[in-house]
Amino acid sequence: MEEREIKIGHVDTKSVMTKSNAPLGGYAVNPYVGCPHACKYCYASFMKRFTGHNEEWGTFMDVKNWPEIKNAGKYAGEKVIIGTVTDGYNPLEETYRKTRKILEELKDSGADILICTKSDLVLRDMDLLLEINRKNTLTVSWSINTLDEAFRSDMDEAVSIERRLAAMKQVYDKGIRTVCFISPVFPGITDIEAIIDRVREQCDLIWLENLNLRGGFKKTIMDYIAQTQPDLIPLYEEIYNKKDRSYFEALERKAEMIAKKYGCRFVDNETPYERVEKGHPTIVDYFYHEEVRGTSNSGKRNKRS
Ligand code: SF4
Repeated sequence: MEEREIKIGHVDTKSVMTKSNAPLGGYAVNPYVGCPHACKYCYASFMKRFTGHNEEWGTFMDVKNWPEIKNAGKYAGEKVIIGTVTDGYNPLEETYRKTRKILEELKDSGADILICTKSDLVLRDMDLLLEINRKNTLTVSWSINTLDEAFRSDMDEAVSIERRLAAMKQVYDKGIRTVCFISPVFPGITDIEAIIDRVREQCDLIWLENLNLRGGFKKTIMDYIAQTQPDLIPLYEEIYNKKDRSYFEALERKAEMIAKKYGCRFVDNETPYERVEKGHPTIVDYFYHEEVRGTSNSGKRNKRS
């Protein structure tokens, strides 16, 4: 892959722990501003507006400096998500080691730590992950929305799917809970059955999230579909211009059937929340996840009218 030039900055912040409004709640931790993985569908690109960046998403990154967390115990039992609007294991983490720093600061906290990544650089920190896993709840999640490396490289500049899968297996085999985050599911492109079949022996959870085209990247994605898969344009127009949910409703039913086939639980939020028997990951339906907040696994969502 061609290395793109990234403009690096440094910013001081009072705290790297931000109260999160994501569906999982807790705290969001982003050791960097910006993300060199440059995913074309990145909803986090809205960050540009708040951080004074006019550059193209994926071409800049600010390294955050924060005062050492002295009282990490206050996060005991809290969910702490590392990498909600950046990938903490982007390639520049090799140099700056800020994700390792936050993990070291939280290692005795008792927090429920979730690392979200598209990289295998997380393997560098296996020693620390194992230490954290002894004292905290730890989960590592990889986003994988295709097994087709060509489509993957059209969409992001992170490592290959094969490298993500290999990293997931290594972490899983070490006894750490892993997630395959099938996100975003591209209508007509993402084959959830093939992915579930490929990962089910090496993860505890599978999360499903639909492609959302609310952001400024809608045109980029629609243009890409028109150029590469014009036969899918009517489907994308139905979903993204006419707000038709039938494709994802049918996919929900399909996911439920796949869950049955493999003897997996099928739920609509992340609880129950533990390691599961190998080969039977819990499949979590996060389609239209904004409706999941505050629900239990009753199947009843807070539907918007
Ligand atoms: S890895 Fe995540 S934060 Fe980074 S560009 Fe991709 S979607 Fe955005």
